[in-house]
Amino acid sequence: MRIVVPREGAPGESRVALVPDSIGRLAPAGFEIAVERGAGAAAGFADDEYAAAGAVLPDGGSLYDGADAVVRVARPSPDEVAKMAPGTVVIGFLAPLTDAEGIERLRARGVVAFAMESVPRITRAQSMDALSSQATVAGYKAVIIAADRVPKMFPLLMTAAGTVTPAKVLVMGAGVAGLQAIATARRLGAVVSAFDVRPAVKEQVESLGATFLDLGVRGEETEGGYAKELTSEQQAAQQAALEERVPEFDVVITTALVPGRPAPRLIPASAVAEMRSGSCIVDLAAEAGGNCELTHPGEEIVRDGVTIVGFTNVPSLMASDASRLYARNVTALLQHLAPGGELDLDFDDEITAGACVARPPAEVTS
Ligand code: NAD
Repeated sequence: MRIVVPREGAPGESRVALVPDSIGRLAPAGFEIAVERGAGAAAGFADDEYAAAGAVLPDGGSLYDGADAVVRVARPSPDEVAKMAPGTVVIGFLAPLTDAEGIERLRARGVVAFAMESVPRITRAQSMDALSSQATVAGYKAVIIAADRVPKMFPLLMTAAGTVTPAKVLVMGAGVAGLQAIATARRLGAVVSAFDVRPAVKEQVESLGATFLDLGVRGEETEGGYAKELTSEQQAAQQAALEERVPEFDVVITTALVPGRPAPRLIPASAVAEMRSGSCIVDLAAEAGGNCELTHPGEEIVRDGVTIVGFTNVPSLMASDASRLYARNVTALLQHLAPGGELDLDFDDEITAGACVARPPAEVTS
């Protein structure tokens, strides 16, 4: 089967869906992989590395010719969708919960679309869990960004010139990104606190050497382990508690998300106004509207001396490792959908059915 890896076209997207190492895994397993020239350049992977690993790099407009599958990071543009023949498999972050129009376009084109966000988070599909791999990168990078912005060192230092006190970091939301942010901030020597509405994570937070901040708000969990949205009373109570606590911290990393819903508002503008000048908030929930009232999605701003970073594609800022991890997830999904190198889509399978967000009626695919 022929797999196509296009160059990502979305502004600010530096990742690539397959890296040379993954070509080296897939090619011997019977896959033929065509990589668009320059597809890996922004992530640090050169065309000749792809060629050496066994990929073909077609010239001009022939990239999509004979494609059985197109693997991408971000969702395809309307022009890219138009280049895919009906029946082609497309894999990527397709935003099924927030981009109904994009999903409808894929359906209308008659392609078979698999969203990496929709891969069930079950043990059998762990190697395909791109939400987790990219959240891990984002959690790490958020701390590095914050450490770069604040005019203060993270560790406790005792020197002949005096003692430097450690930075105080608060992590809001202790899912995959939050736990990685806690671990990274701890490694840099900060004193870290964290909270989540899922009480089950208290133990995980503490095992990483952070203090669990009890704000007295207990949320509910879905069967898949996600948080449910808080009631408006709970949200108000959470904001009030945070307004009091947030000004203690030099750095706040926010990661709180509820799938398919706007990000919960955790930090009101009034709490930012009370923070010390020079403090920094990195809002990893910016793409879903932000956990901070003042976050400008896609931008970095300074308000009352506080830097508020609202970058919407943080994994792309670590494009090399983010791509390596994503490529492993995509490779695992491809091997699941096409064991032995040929597509064999079994929609009775939990992973195949769960990840599929658009497909033509059965008579078209068979
Ligand atoms: P996510 O990105 O949807 O949310 C991030 C965090 O924000 C979650 O921990 C959530 O509880 C928290 N949150 C939501 N509303 C909040 C609020 N108002 N205040 C504070 N925190 C709030 O979630 P995620 O990190 O992708 O995953 C969350 C959980 O999903 C994991 O911890 C785990 O239980 C489960 N999971 C399971 C698997 C698996 O079994 N393979 C893999 C990954 C994740």
